[in-house]
Amino acid sequence: KPVCVIAIGMAGSGKSTFVQRLNAHLHSSSPPAPPYILNLDPAVTNLAYEPNIDIRDTVDYHEVMKQYNLGPNGGILTALNLFTTKFDQVLDLVEKRAENIDYVVIDTPGQIEIFTWSASGAIITDAVASSLPTVIAYIVDTPRAVAPATFMSNMLYACSILYKTKLPFIVVFNKTDVQPHAFALEWMRDFEVFQEALASHQSTTDDDGAPTYMNSLMNSMSLVLDEFYKHLKSVGVSSMTGDGFSDFLQAVEASREEYEREYLPELARVR
Ligand code: GDP
Repeated sequence: KPVCVIAIGMAGSGKSTFVQRLNAHLHSSSPPAPPYILNLDPAVTNLAYEPNIDIRDTVDYHEVMKQYNLGPNGGILTALNLFTTKFDQVLDLVEKRAENIDYVVIDTPGQIEIFTWSASGAIITDAVASSLPTVIAYIVDTPRAVAPATFMSNMLYACSILYKTKLPFIVVFNKTDVQPHAFALEWMRDFEVFQEALASHQSTTDDDGAPTYMNSLMNSMSLVLDEFYKHLKSVGVSSMTGDGFSDFLQAVEASREEYEREYLPELARVR
C-alpha cells in the first residue's frame, strides 16, 4: 500500500516548493517512485509540478466567489467544501492506482487554517487516513523560526494539529540552505536552552523586576511542548537544493510503521 503524505504549512513556509522537490526526488530515485499528487489549493495560480488530481479542474474558485458573493478566503473554503462532497470519487481513483504507487502526496491550501480548522479539512484527512497509511508533514520556515516567539507559536500550531488528527507527524524544517536547523533540534531536546534563548531575546522582567506575563506564559508553554516533542519526528530539508529528502523519506517510512502500530488499532476500536 502507498503511504500518504499530507503537506501542511504556514503561507510562505515553502510548502509548494517542498511538494515540487519531493516529486522531483521521487522521480529520480532508483527505482523511480513517481508519487500520485493531489492539489487541494483552488487559488494557486501556477504549480511547479503536474498534479494527478487538481481541485481546480473541479471547482472554479473565481466563479464560486462571484456566485456566492464571497471574499478570497470564503471562496477558497467554499471551493474546498464543494470538492469534499466528491472526495469519495477521488479516493476511488487513488485506490485504483494504489498497486502501482508508493506515495500519495496531498498539497493543501496556502492559508493553513482553511485546511486545519475546517470541516472539509477534517473530513478529507479522516477519509484518507482510514484508507491509507497517512502522515502529516508540517513545513516550518526555519530562518524565521530562529526568533524564539515565532518558534513557539509555530510549534503550538503543530501541537494543535497533532492532537486534532492524532496521525504520525513529521516536523520538516525547511530552507536549511539559508539556516541550518540544529538550533531547533537543540531547543526541542532541552527546554532550558530554549528558555535561555527566550530570555536573551526580550526583556524578561517588567519595571518592578517581576517576570513579564509573556515570559512566564512562554516558560510554562515550553513545558507543555516538551511533552509534545516526544511524539514527533523532525527533519531538516532544503526544498531549494534537495538536501535532507532521504532523511525525510526515512521518517515517512517510520511513520508508516507508527500508523500501523498506533493509528490503525484505534481506528478499528472506534468503528
Ligand atoms: P508556500 O506559500 O508555503 O507554498 O511557499 P512557497 O513554496 O511559495 O515558497 C515561499 C518562498 O520560499 C519562495 O520564494 C520560495 O522560493 C522560498 N523557498 C521555499 N523553499 C525554500 C528552500 O528550501 N530554501 C530557500 N532558500 N528558499 C525556499
